[in-house]
Amino acid sequence: MERGEILSWLRQDDPRELERLWGLADSLRQENLGDEVHLRGLVEVSSHCGRNCLYCGLRRNNDGLERYRMGEEEILACASRAAELGYFTVVLQSGEDRALDTGKVSRVIRRIRQELPSMAITLSLGERSTEELALWRESGADRYLLRFETSRRDLYRMIHPPSGDDSTSDRFRILHQLRALGYETGSGVMVGIPGQSYSDLADDILAFGSLDLDMIGSGPYLPHPDTPLGRLYRAARAGVAGQVPNSLEMACKVIALTRVVCPQANIPATTALAALDRESGYRLGLQRGANVVMPNLTPPRYRALYQIYPGKAGLSGEEEQHAAVAGMIAGIGRRVGASRGDSPNYLKRTATAHKQGREMKCLQPQA
Ligand code: SAH
Ligand code: SF4
Repeated sequence: MERGEILSWLRQDDPRELERLWGLADSLRQENLGDEVHLRGLVEVSSHCGRNCLYCGLRRNNDGLERYRMGEEEILACASRAAELGYFTVVLQSGEDRALDTGKVSRVIRRIRQELPSMAITLSLGERSTEELALWRESGADRYLLRFETSRRDLYRMIHPPSGDDSTSDRFRILHQLRALGYETGSGVMVGIPGQSYSDLADDILAFGSLDLDMIGSGPYLPHPDTPLGRLYRAARAGVAGQVPNSLEMACKVIALTRVVCPQANIPATTALAALDRESGYRLGLQRGANVVMPNLTPPRYRALYQIYPGKAGLSGEEEQHAAVAGMIAGIGRRVGASRGDSPNYLKRTATAHKQGREMKCLQPQA
């Protein structure tokens, strides 16, 4: 799809026209990924963060927040819980926490690999060094999620200042590294960041395609009152011309257009979508191009403290949450995934790389 067409869909607000977009995204999802919805068990392993993103409640300077870091055994127990519930992926997410060091993460990955061999491991631990990312991959991590948040450089720099460790933050560079290390690579953006225009969002969607991402998770920006951007949102957002709204419909447009541009990627109906509309957020995401949901398996006493944004969905118990999600999936005529659900985009590009490797070997002179 061309940039102009993406832009006009983003600006479209006629419900009958939008039905065409939802239909197109849903049929592409069906054609490329079938009817399975893959469930990934999310474990928020630490709320400590050394970074100061202007949008996020876990930012370093938010000193009103009680912080926690889960121990190795606690993380392993959550991964086992994911297996008991029939999930094939565990997602370990955290703030950028230096105390969650190379060795500790590596040990956790190895233990999950050993004790739960059919479980895929996804990491979402922020911007980490190439050495760490390489070691974790060697230890058995399969996937890595790192949103680039917005492709507009000045907006990104404004809302995502460098941490003490780096003079610039370049998530595109890290995404290329992750891909080169053999990770199934995921990214995404926030929709409706103060200052974000329709044109910016069209560029974001095109960037998903040019990065050839395997997983793309985007969700609405949700203002947190204890952050600089949350305060700015409250003070200035009303009536700003050309501002992208942080609405459910706009987030769904991004999901649908992402499906059109990247038909073989795994696309979650994100937690932020459900936080915006508890009743139908997940369902609408799944009916408009998404094929993944990430139920929260963080122990409840920690979950309440992992306040990236207010009103996070998933504060109910695991069983209850699982029953609600599974019921919703059946209710829309889909079924819960019964395999790891690797991204077809990843499987295709890695198969091509292996094939090319084999061909190169054949061409080499025999000793
Ligand atoms: N520290 C890691 C992972 C945790 S944050 C990282 O930054 O990558 C995970 C995601 O939460 C971020 O990528 C961001 O897109 C999202 N997020 C943070 N604050 C948010 C807010 N106020 N509204 C919506 N999403 C937010
Ligand atoms: Fe830290 Fe991630 Fe939040 Fe930024 S978005 S403050 S890196 S947890």
